[in-house]
Amino acid sequence: MGREMKNSPALREEGIRNADFLHDIKSALEFYRELGFERLPLRMQKMNHAADSMSKDAALKALREEIGDCTRCKLSRERRNVVFGEGNSDASLMFIGEAPGREEDLQARPFVGDAGTLLTRLIEKMGFKREDVYIANIVKCRPPQNRDPEADEIGICRGFVERQIGIIKPRVIMSLGRISAMTLTGDVKLKITAIRGSFLDYKGIPLMPTFHPAYLIRNPRDKWLTWTDAQRVLKLLRDE
Ligand code: SF4
Repeated sequence: MGREMKNSPALREEGIRNADFLHDIKSALEFYRELGFERLPLRMQKMNHAADSMSKDAALKALREEIGDCTRCKLSRERRNVVFGEGNSDASLMFIGEAPGREEDLQARPFVGDAGTLLTRLIEKMGFKREDVYIANIVKCRPPQNRDPEADEIGICRGFVERQIGIIKPRVIMSLGRISAMTLTGDVKLKITAIRGSFLDYKGIPLMPTFHPAYLIRNPRDKWLTWTDAQRVLKLLRDE
């Protein structure tokens, strides 16, 4: 989508209309509940859930429009596309990597190269479809030559992924690689080999740090460790 389309008055007006509509639905449901209608709650729950999902979609769409063709940090100079993230806006499980690579930059989609194929296999092995979960990165633009994103770039961009998490409110996050775990925990000295496999906390959401799929391609013998981490995530989702 071009810059003009994303920032068009028509799209902004549509977003405002959607937000007003959702607000009206929720107000009406609250009103009927206060009146004591006995048969309404179950339907209300379903409608509330649907309204929440719609409002999450609208909020993510608004955030994407706000990012626009971002030039807030120096990664904008060489990237082709901003890679916002994709998936179910109401996902219980969110995967967060560090930055788009070459293929992601070309397609404007997260985790679509070789590492993405491996991540998709993990997601499916966990019993989900890719579209059931939400996938994003700490920074939204490809660093040149796939270098690690730098502290100033992370500092400028991290607010976007934090807002995505705040909108989606997943029950569990799996962070992929050292930079993702380091950014979400604020622990700049952490070693992924030391902390992976145990739940940490991100603003009240359980956070499971595990290896980045690109690392697993280079070190396939460690794949079973990530599978162990994924099983802990599944157990937590089941137990809840
Ligand atoms: S990495 Fe983030 S802050 Fe930097 S240009 Fe891309 S979207 Fe903007």
